[in-house]
Amino acid sequence: MEPATKKTNDLTLKDRLSRLNFQQAFKLLGENSQRLITKGGAIQIDIERQVTLNAEQLDVRFPMAQTKANGSHEALVTIKLSADARESLSWQCSVCDTICEHVGAAFALVLEDKLSLGLAVASLADSLARLMLSTQRAQPQNS
Ligand SMILES: [Zn+2]
Repeated sequence: MEPATKKTNDLTLKDRLSRLNFQQAFKLLGENSQRLITKGGAIQIDIERQVTLNAEQLDVRFPMAQTKANGSHEALVTIKLSADARESLSWQCSVCDTICEHVGAAFALVLEDKLSLGLAVASLADSLARLMLSTQRAQPQNS
């Protein structure tokens, strides 16, 4: 038996990320999110070197070949709790103004690598969604 369910507002960032499934991520990221999560999922992430997860936020750093106009040579994606945001999670990328493949990659990491991040194991429904995604990955793009 599980202990009494926590009130939604009491959920920690790790709770939120543990429970996040593909459908919620698609809703959270909006248009193009399925494509970007699929694309981002192909980006290799070294969890020890590129990922920081604490109680407040999840940071994922992506080294970039070219230095951006602001002098930065990495893209930093931050995912954190936000009372106002959809699914109570907000996200941003330090170099992109809109949803980008860095954000897609960070969410793909959360969705596909929960164990490595110390999050709870994905549910069966989530495994099925993942299977669907990898099937779609194998198909040619016709956009
Ligand atoms: Zn970006």
